[in-house]
Amino acid sequence: MLQTINWQARAKSVLMPNRPFIDGRYVDSVSNETFPCVYPGDGRLLTQVTSCNEADVDKAVRSARKAFDAGVWSRMAPTDRRRILLRFSELILANREELALLETLNVGKPIANALNGDVVSAASCIAWYAEAIDKVYGEVAEAHEITTLVVREPLGVVAAVVPWNYPMSMAAWKLGPALATGNSVVLKPAEQSPFTALKFGELAIEAGLPPGVLNVVPGLGHIAGKALGLHMDVDCVGFTGSTEVGKYFMQYSGQSNIKRIGLELGGKSPQVVLADCDDLDAAAAGVAAGIFANAGQVCNAGSRLIVDETVRDALFEKIAAHAKSFTPGDPLEAATRMGSLVTQEQMERVLGYIDAGRAEGATTLVGGSRVRLETGGFYVEPTIFDGVRNDMKIAREEIFGPVLSAITVKGFDEAMEVANDTIYGLAGAVWTGSIKNAHRAAKAIKAGVVWVNCFDRGSMAVPFGGFKQSGFGRDKSLHAMDKYTDLKAMWFAH
Ligand code: NDP
Repeated sequence: MLQTINWQARAKSVLMPNRPFIDGRYVDSVSNETFPCVYPGDGRLLTQVTSCNEADVDKAVRSARKAFDAGVWSRMAPTDRRRILLRFSELILANREELALLETLNVGKPIANALNGDVVSAASCIAWYAEAIDKVYGEVAEAHEITTLVVREPLGVVAAVVPWNYPMSMAAWKLGPALATGNSVVLKPAEQSPFTALKFGELAIEAGLPPGVLNVVPGLGHIAGKALGLHMDVDCVGFTGSTEVGKYFMQYSGQSNIKRIGLELGGKSPQVVLADCDDLDAAAAGVAAGIFANAGQVCNAGSRLIVDETVRDALFEKIAAHAKSFTPGDPLEAATRMGSLVTQEQMERVLGYIDAGRAEGATTLVGGSRVRLETGGFYVEPTIFDGVRNDMKIAREEIFGPVLSAITVKGFDEAMEVANDTIYGLAGAVWTGSIKNAHRAAKAIKAGVVWVNCFDRGSMAVPFGGFKQSGFGRDKSLHAMDKYTDLKAMWFAH
């Protein structure tokens, strides 16, 4: 099917939602301000999108609060909420092509990935939480001659503030558990990627979600995002984004109403290949996909390769071969495996890191340049740095681009020391043929997720999130529902 669609032609006629979605419909803004949305595949202006200000955010929060207090969703029978969220998931799939196209136009990811990855994963996430609604139980605690119930209650109004790298999935990871537990939500997408979030608002209403339960406010972080963070009537912020902005949200919380905060932040994840790795082909494929998928714009990207000196040469050769299959191409072509970066600014940031790597003495084994200039788009080729020390900028800071920093080590202990020498703790991986070292490394790596002889495997049943400055709280799995609920203890005297 994918091969037969002329995506370029479809892109010319697709409707791009660009106004806030509040109280069940698209509305004019109070702000009257807009920001431009550019297609990073060729740099052309797509449309102007409303930039919500404090007054627009306040309208959305009021709508969410009204719906919550009225109980139209929060007190709806669990089976009815399940049915509506399942329908929402079905509608996401039914609108798969349009959503994928909108996502690719916003962020420049390959259309095949958007269609088969992002849309499907967002729909599955909503369905998973829909199914969970009537399958989670409270507790009855033992107390002397008194009945004690421990139940979870929704918080009220949840703000979801999300990034641009996987706009639909990141939104779904917040919407699924927040809505399933009965909250109302105000979603603020990243300024680069408002289209699919707005479309989600529309589809949720079509599915039967009462107006006001899901509002979407496109806008700038330092205006709309900040307004949500500081709002006295927002009970919780589910945030995914950079560590820097995550710290702002903690401040906003302290400056306002001590709202709950869940933070999924950045990373500098180690891919450790030990001397006893017995499948260098698999390791090379995992390392390459781990940094070049989504053009490296992945929070858990395996951006630091920590390789034992005994296997490095053989491994480098294999990774370099895999890198070729990620040569950037037109995001709207079905066969493209790596598209553009999200914006010109992001491309310049990545190229700046490449310059910094060279200036600090690392050498580029592969890549290192902007490509496809003639398209007007923002493309950087897969890049591998050798001779990296862990104190270099390209080993310490999150580049968020297709740039692998390879650090050579000697032995297990040095590998673990380097792996953990980072402010981040989102994820890590180890490639080894030894069951003993597999267990030792899985315990030693200080991160919320550790993969052994694989990379970036995921399931809705398994929590995702980080240690250290990669944040706290978990997305996915039943654990995510904890973030959007509070425990209430009830004591019933006999
Ligand atoms: P940012 O932190 O810049 O932005 C994330 C969101 O926060 C956006 O909606 C943004 O709005 C908003 N924002 C920006 N500044 C402020 C502010 N001062 N106050 C309130 N809100 C603000 O991240 P990016 O969008 O650049 O995404 C990349 C980052 O996200 C990377 O660091 C990556 O590691 C992380 N990430 C983490 C994941 C995880 O699960 N741990 C998953 C995916 C990404 P605007 O767009 O308008 O600036």
